[in-house]
Amino acid sequence: MRVLITGGAGFIGSHLAETLLERGDDVYIIDDLSTGSMDNIRQFKENPAYADHFFVTIESILNHDAMIELTGICDVVFHMAAAVGVRYILKHPLESIKTNIEGTEKILELCNKFKKKVLIASSSEVYGKHMHAPLVETDNLIYGPSTKFRWSYAASKLMDEFTGLAYYRTKGLNVIITRLFNTVGPRQTGAYGMVIPRFVKQALKNEPLTVYGDGSQTRTFTYVKDVVSGLISLMDSDNTAGEVFNIGGIEEISIVNLAEKIIRACNSSSKVELIPYEEAFEKDFEDMQRRVPGIEKIKDRVGFKPQTDLDTILSNVIESVKKRLSIT
Ligand code: UDP
Repeated sequence: MRVLITGGAGFIGSHLAETLLERGDDVYIIDDLSTGSMDNIRQFKENPAYADHFFVTIESILNHDAMIELTGICDVVFHMAAAVGVRYILKHPLESIKTNIEGTEKILELCNKFKKKVLIASSSEVYGKHMHAPLVETDNLIYGPSTKFRWSYAASKLMDEFTGLAYYRTKGLNVIITRLFNTVGPRQTGAYGMVIPRFVKQALKNEPLTVYGDGSQTRTFTYVKDVVSGLISLMDSDNTAGEVFNIGGIEEISIVNLAEKIIRACNSSSKVELIPYEEAFEKDFEDMQRRVPGIEKIKDRVGFKPQTDLDTILSNVIESVKKRLSIT
Protein backbone atom coordinates (compact mmCIF):
# COMPACT_ATOMS: atom_id res chain seq x y z
CA MET A 1 0.00 0.00 0.00
CA ARG A 2 1.10 3.57 -0.62
CA VAL A 3 0.62 5.72 2.43
CA LEU A 4 0.88 9.49 2.81
CA ILE A 5 1.72 10.84 6.27
CA THR A 6 1.43 14.59 6.76
CA GLY A 7 3.73 15.63 9.59
CA GLY A 8 5.77 12.49 8.92
CA ALA A 9 8.96 13.96 10.38
CA GLY A 10 7.21 14.79 13.64
CA PHE A 11 7.36 12.70 16.77
CA ILE A 12 4.29 10.48 16.20
CA GLY A 13 4.44 10.73 12.38
CA SER A 14 8.00 9.41 12.27
CA HIS A 15 7.16 6.37 14.43
CA LEU A 16 4.14 5.72 12.21
CA ALA A 17 6.33 5.94 9.09
CA GLU A 18 8.83 3.51 10.60
CA THR A 19 6.18 0.91 11.50
CA LEU A 20 4.55 1.13 8.05
CA LEU A 21 7.94 0.73 6.33
CA GLU A 22 8.65 -2.31 8.50
CA ARG A 23 5.43 -3.95 7.33
CA GLY A 24 6.30 -3.30 3.68
CA ASP A 25 4.30 -0.22 2.72
CA ASP A 26 5.57 2.56 0.49
CA VAL A 27 5.61 5.63 2.70
CA TYR A 28 5.42 9.23 1.50
CA ILE A 29 5.77 12.00 4.02
CA ILE A 30 5.31 15.75 3.85
CA ASP A 31 6.61 17.97 6.64
CA ASP A 32 7.64 21.62 6.86
CA LEU A 33 9.99 20.85 9.77
CA SER A 34 8.31 23.56 11.89
CA THR A 35 8.25 21.19 14.86
CA GLY A 36 9.36 17.97 13.11
CA SER A 37 12.98 17.24 12.36
CA MET A 38 15.19 15.35 9.90
CA ASP A 39 16.80 13.65 12.90
CA ASN A 40 13.50 11.87 13.55
CA ILE A 41 13.60 10.11 10.17
CA ARG A 42 17.34 9.91 9.43
CA GLN A 43 17.67 6.39 10.79
CA PHE A 44 15.30 4.84 8.26
CA LYS A 45 15.80 7.43 5.50
CA GLU A 46 19.41 6.25 5.28
CA ASN A 47 18.48 2.55 5.46
CA PRO A 48 19.23 1.08 1.98
CA ALA A 49 16.38 -1.43 2.41
CA TYR A 50 13.91 1.46 2.31
CA ALA A 51 15.58 3.44 -0.50
CA ASP A 52 12.76 2.74 -2.98
CA HIS A 53 10.01 2.81 -0.37
CA PHE A 54 10.43 6.03 1.57
CA PHE A 55 9.85 9.44 -0.02
CA VAL A 56 10.28 12.74 1.78
CA THR A 57 8.84 16.12 0.73
CA ILE A 58 9.88 19.11 2.82
CA GLU A 59 6.98 21.48 2.27
CA SER A 60 3.99 22.97 4.01
CA ILE A 61 0.72 21.07 3.75
CA LEU A 62 -0.69 24.38 2.54
CA ASN A 63 1.34 23.97 -0.70
CA HIS A 64 -1.42 22.94 -3.09
CA ASP A 65 0.77 21.52 -5.88
CA ALA A 66 2.75 19.29 -3.53
CA MET A 67 -0.39 18.05 -1.81
CA ILE A 68 -2.24 17.35 -5.10
CA GLU A 69 0.62 15.18 -6.31
CA LEU A 70 1.04 13.27 -3.05
CA THR A 71 -2.65 12.70 -2.43
CA GLY A 72 -3.04 11.53 -6.02
CA ILE A 73 -0.21 8.98 -5.70
CA CYS A 74 -1.16 7.46 -2.32
CA ASP A 75 -3.95 5.04 -1.35
CA VAL A 76 -4.60 6.37 2.14
CA VAL A 77 -3.66 9.47 4.15
CA PHE A 78 -2.72 9.83 7.81
CA HIS A 79 -3.10 13.52 8.61
CA MET A 80 -0.74 14.00 11.54
CA ALA A 81 0.57 17.50 10.74
CA ALA A 82 -0.55 19.99 13.37
CA ALA A 83 0.68 22.66 15.71
CA VAL A 84 1.82 20.83 18.84
CA GLY A 85 2.40 21.62 22.49
CA VAL A 86 0.72 24.14 24.77
CA ARG A 87 3.86 26.29 24.86
CA TYR A 88 4.10 26.41 21.04
CA ILE A 89 0.42 27.23 20.65
CA LEU A 90 0.52 30.11 23.14
CA LYS A 91 3.57 31.51 21.34
CA HIS A 92 2.20 31.07 17.79
CA PRO A 93 -1.59 31.31 18.12
CA LEU A 94 -2.40 32.53 14.61
CA GLU A 95 -0.08 30.13 12.84
CA SER A 96 -1.44 27.23 14.92
CA ILE A 97 -5.06 28.00 14.04
CA LYS A 98 -4.20 28.38 10.33
CA THR A 99 -2.20 25.14 10.18
CA ASN A 100 -4.92 23.19 11.91
CA ILE A 101 -7.98 24.57 10.16
CA GLU A 102 -6.73 25.46 6.66
CA GLY A 103 -4.40 22.47 6.49
CA THR A 104 -7.09 19.96 7.40
CA GLU A 105 -9.65 21.58 5.12
CA LYS A 106 -7.21 21.37 2.19
CA ILE A 107 -6.40 17.71 2.87
CA LEU A 108 -10.04 16.75 3.13
CA GLU A 109 -10.80 18.57 -0.12
CA LEU A 110 -8.05 16.64 -1.93
CA CYS A 111 -8.93 13.30 -0.33
CA ASN A 112 -12.48 13.86 -1.50
CA LYS A 113 -11.34 14.78 -5.01
CA PHE A 114 -9.25 11.57 -5.29
CA LYS A 115 -11.54 9.48 -3.04
CA LYS A 116 -8.79 8.54 -0.59
CA LYS A 117 -9.45 7.26 2.93
CA VAL A 118 -8.10 9.68 5.54
CA LEU A 119 -7.41 9.49 9.26
CA ILE A 120 -7.29 12.82 11.09
CA ALA A 121 -5.27 13.10 14.28
CA SER A 122 -7.27 15.18 16.72
CA SER A 123 -6.44 15.67 20.37
CA SER A 124 -7.70 15.03 23.89
CA GLU A 125 -7.54 18.84 24.21
CA VAL A 126 -10.97 18.94 22.54
CA TYR A 127 -12.55 17.67 25.78
CA GLY A 128 -11.60 20.92 27.50
CA LYS A 129 -11.99 21.45 31.24
CA HIS A 130 -13.60 18.22 32.42
CA MET A 131 -12.82 16.85 35.89
CA HIS A 132 -14.39 13.42 35.51
CA ALA A 133 -12.78 10.26 34.25
CA PRO A 134 -12.75 8.55 31.91
CA LEU A 135 -13.45 10.94 29.04
CA VAL A 136 -15.56 9.26 26.40
CA GLU A 137 -16.20 10.22 22.80
CA THR A 138 -19.83 11.22 23.45
CA ASP A 139 -18.99 13.64 26.32
CA ASN A 140 -19.91 17.31 26.11
CA LEU A 141 -16.96 19.63 25.52
CA ILE A 142 -16.22 22.51 27.92
CA TYR A 143 -13.98 25.46 27.07
CA GLY A 144 -12.92 28.71 28.68
CA PRO A 145 -13.38 32.14 27.03
CA SER A 146 -11.82 33.00 23.66
CA THR A 147 -9.41 35.42 25.38
CA LYS A 148 -7.60 32.38 26.80
CA PHE A 149 -5.60 31.09 23.92
CA ARG A 150 -5.10 27.58 25.14
CA TRP A 151 -8.68 26.91 24.05
CA SER A 152 -7.98 28.05 20.48
CA TYR A 153 -6.16 24.79 19.94
CA ALA A 154 -9.10 22.75 21.23
CA ALA A 155 -11.51 24.77 19.11
CA SER A 156 -9.39 24.43 15.96
CA LYS A 157 -9.06 20.66 16.44
CA LEU A 158 -12.79 20.45 17.05
CA MET A 159 -13.40 22.32 13.79
CA ASP A 160 -11.18 19.74 12.05
CA GLU A 161 -13.37 17.00 13.50
CA PHE A 162 -16.57 18.72 12.35
CA THR A 163 -15.17 19.27 8.85
CA GLY A 164 -14.05 15.65 8.57
CA LEU A 165 -17.39 14.34 9.79
CA ALA A 166 -19.22 16.68 7.41
CA TYR A 167 -17.22 15.26 4.46
CA TYR A 168 -18.24 11.78 5.59
CA ARG A 169 -21.90 12.77 5.89
CA THR A 170 -22.29 14.84 2.78
CA LYS A 171 -19.78 13.26 0.36
CA GLY A 172 -19.43 9.73 1.73
CA LEU A 173 -15.67 10.26 2.20
CA ASN A 174 -14.01 7.65 4.43
CA VAL A 175 -12.83 9.83 7.32
CA ILE A 176 -11.68 8.52 10.71
CA ILE A 177 -11.14 10.89 13.66
CA THR A 178 -8.75 9.94 16.48
CA ARG A 179 -8.34 11.86 19.72
CA LEU A 180 -4.79 11.27 20.89
CA PHE A 181 -4.10 11.51 24.62
CA ASN A 182 -0.63 12.31 26.02
CA THR A 183 1.66 10.30 23.77
CA VAL A 184 5.28 9.78 24.77
CA GLY A 185 8.40 7.93 23.70
CA PRO A 186 11.82 8.35 22.14
CA ARG A 187 12.28 11.33 19.74
CA GLN A 188 9.75 13.53 21.56
CA THR A 189 11.33 16.85 22.39
CA GLY A 190 10.60 18.91 25.49
CA ALA A 191 11.06 22.09 23.47
CA TYR A 192 7.31 22.62 23.04
CA GLY A 193 6.48 21.94 26.69
CA MET A 194 5.94 18.15 26.79
CA VAL A 195 6.41 17.08 30.35
CA ILE A 196 8.19 13.71 30.22
CA PRO A 197 11.14 14.65 27.98
CA ARG A 198 11.51 17.86 30.00
CA PHE A 199 11.54 16.11 33.37
CA VAL A 200 13.90 13.38 32.16
CA LYS A 201 16.37 15.92 30.81
CA GLN A 202 16.18 17.95 34.04
CA ALA A 203 16.67 14.81 36.16
CA LEU A 204 19.62 13.57 34.11
CA LYS A 205 21.29 16.95 34.54
CA ASN A 206 20.48 16.96 38.30
CA GLU A 207 18.52 20.19 37.82
CA PRO A 208 15.20 20.99 39.58
CA LEU A 209 12.11 19.38 38.00
CA THR A 210 9.75 22.22 37.08
CA VAL A 211 6.30 21.09 38.23
CA TYR A 212 3.64 23.64 37.23
CA GLY A 213 0.89 24.58 39.67
CA ASP A 214 0.71 22.30 42.72
CA GLY A 215 1.38 19.19 40.61
CA SER A 216 -1.96 17.58 41.52
CA GLN A 217 -3.12 17.64 37.87
CA THR A 218 -3.11 14.17 36.34
CA ARG A 219 -2.36 12.69 32.94
CA THR A 220 -2.45 9.21 31.40
CA PHE A 221 0.53 8.58 29.18
CA THR A 222 0.60 6.23 26.19
CA TYR A 223 3.67 4.83 24.48
CA VAL A 224 4.04 6.07 20.93
CA LYS A 225 4.33 2.54 19.46
CA ASP A 226 1.00 1.62 21.08
CA VAL A 227 -0.57 4.75 19.60
CA VAL A 228 0.84 3.87 16.18
CA SER A 229 -0.64 0.38 16.31
CA GLY A 230 -4.02 1.92 17.23
CA LEU A 231 -3.81 4.33 14.29
CA ILE A 232 -2.96 1.56 11.84
CA SER A 233 -5.73 -0.74 13.14
CA LEU A 234 -8.28 2.05 12.73
CA MET A 235 -7.09 2.75 9.19
CA ASP A 236 -7.04 -0.95 8.23
CA SER A 237 -10.54 -1.58 9.54
CA ASP A 238 -13.56 -1.25 7.27
CA ASN A 239 -15.97 -0.22 10.03
CA THR A 240 -14.37 2.87 11.56
CA ALA A 241 -15.18 5.61 9.02
CA GLY A 242 -17.33 8.55 10.08
CA GLU A 243 -16.52 8.04 13.76
CA VAL A 244 -14.41 9.46 16.58
CA PHE A 245 -12.04 7.26 18.64
CA ASN A 246 -9.96 8.01 21.72
CA ILE A 247 -6.47 6.51 21.74
CA GLY A 248 -4.73 6.52 25.11
CA GLY A 249 -3.33 4.65 28.08
CA ILE A 250 -4.66 3.41 31.39
CA GLU A 251 -2.25 4.51 34.15
CA GLU A 252 -3.35 7.87 35.59
CA ILE A 253 -0.62 9.71 37.50
CA SER A 254 -0.32 13.16 39.05
CA ILE A 255 2.45 15.36 37.66
CA VAL A 256 4.17 15.64 41.03
CA ASN A 257 4.21 11.84 41.41
CA LEU A 258 5.51 11.58 37.86
CA ALA A 259 8.35 13.97 38.75
CA GLU A 260 9.29 11.87 41.78
CA LYS A 261 9.15 8.65 39.76
CA ILE A 262 11.46 10.14 37.12
CA ILE A 263 13.94 11.36 39.77
CA ARG A 264 14.10 7.79 41.15
CA ALA A 265 14.33 6.17 37.72
CA CYS A 266 17.25 8.45 36.79
CA ASN A 267 19.04 8.00 40.14
CA SER A 268 19.07 11.76 40.21
CA SER A 269 19.76 14.22 43.01
CA SER A 270 17.20 16.65 41.54
CA LYS A 271 14.41 18.13 43.66
CA VAL A 272 10.88 19.08 42.66
CA GLU A 273 10.32 22.82 42.21
CA LEU A 274 6.72 24.09 42.11
CA ILE A 275 6.26 26.89 39.58
CA PRO A 276 3.02 28.91 39.48
CA TYR A 277 1.17 28.57 36.16
CA GLU A 278 1.27 32.29 35.49
CA GLU A 279 5.05 32.21 35.70
CA ALA A 280 5.31 29.14 33.46
CA PHE A 281 2.77 30.33 30.88
CA GLU A 282 0.74 33.53 31.25
CA LYS A 283 -1.68 35.25 33.60
CA ASP A 284 -4.95 33.35 34.11
CA PHE A 285 -3.61 30.26 32.36
CA GLU A 286 -6.01 27.34 32.69
CA ASP A 287 -4.67 23.79 32.79
CA MET A 288 -6.68 20.61 32.39
CA GLN A 289 -6.81 19.14 35.89
CA ARG A 290 -7.44 15.57 34.85
CA ARG A 291 -7.16 13.65 31.59
CA VAL A 292 -7.97 9.95 31.40
CA PRO A 293 -9.23 8.37 28.18
CA GLY A 294 -12.11 5.96 27.88
CA ILE A 295 -10.78 3.35 25.45
CA GLU A 296 -13.69 0.91 25.37
CA LYS A 297 -14.78 2.03 21.91
CA ILE A 298 -11.45 1.47 20.15
CA LYS A 299 -10.95 -1.74 22.15
CA ASP A 300 -14.32 -3.12 21.06
CA ARG A 301 -13.92 -2.04 17.45
CA VAL A 302 -10.32 -2.97 16.63
CA GLY A 303 -9.00 -4.73 19.75
CA PHE A 304 -6.75 -1.85 20.82
CA LYS A 305 -4.91 -2.42 24.11
CA PRO A 306 -1.93 -0.38 25.32
CA GLN A 307 0.96 -2.82 25.87
CA THR A 308 3.60 -0.64 27.48
CA ASP A 309 3.48 0.35 31.16
CA LEU A 310 4.73 3.67 32.49
CA ASP A 311 7.96 2.22 33.93
CA THR A 312 8.93 0.79 30.54
CA ILE A 313 7.95 4.02 28.78
CA LEU A 314 10.16 5.99 31.18
CA SER A 315 13.14 3.68 30.82
CA ASN A 316 12.93 3.92 27.01
CA VAL A 317 12.67 7.70 27.15
CA ILE A 318 15.56 7.93 29.62
CA GLU A 319 17.76 5.85 27.29
CA SER A 320 16.92 8.03 24.30
CA VAL A 321 17.45 11.31 26.17
CA LYS A 322 20.78 9.99 27.50
CA LYS A 323 21.84 9.25 23.92
CA ARG A 324 20.80 12.73 22.79
CA LEU A 325 22.70 14.33 25.68
CA SER A 326 25.61 11.90 25.17
CA ILE A 327 25.38 10.66 28.78
CA THR A 328 26.58 7.08 29.33
N1 UDP B 1 4.05 20.31 33.05
C1 UDP B 1 4.84 20.59 34.16
N2 UDP B 1 6.14 20.95 33.96
C2 UDP B 1 6.71 21.01 32.72
C3 UDP B 1 5.90 20.71 31.59
C4 UDP B 1 4.58 20.37 31.80
O1 UDP B 1 4.37 20.53 35.31
O2 UDP B 1 7.91 21.33 32.63
C5 UDP B 1 2.65 19.90 33.27
C6 UDP B 1 1.62 20.69 32.44
O3 UDP B 1 1.26 21.88 33.09
C7 UDP B 1 0.49 19.68 32.36
C8 UDP B 1 1.19 18.33 32.32
O4 UDP B 1 2.50 18.56 32.84
O5 UDP B 1 -0.32 19.75 33.50
C9 UDP B 1 1.32 17.74 30.93
O6 UDP B 1 1.90 18.71 30.09
P1 UDP B 1 2.20 18.46 28.55
O7 UDP B 1 2.60 19.78 27.96
O8 UDP B 1 3.15 17.32 28.42
O9 UDP B 1 0.82 17.97 27.95
P2 UDP B 1 -0.68 18.58 28.03
O10 UDP B 1 -1.44 17.50 28.73
O11 UDP B 1 -0.67 19.85 28.80
O12 UDP B 1 -1.09 18.76 26.62
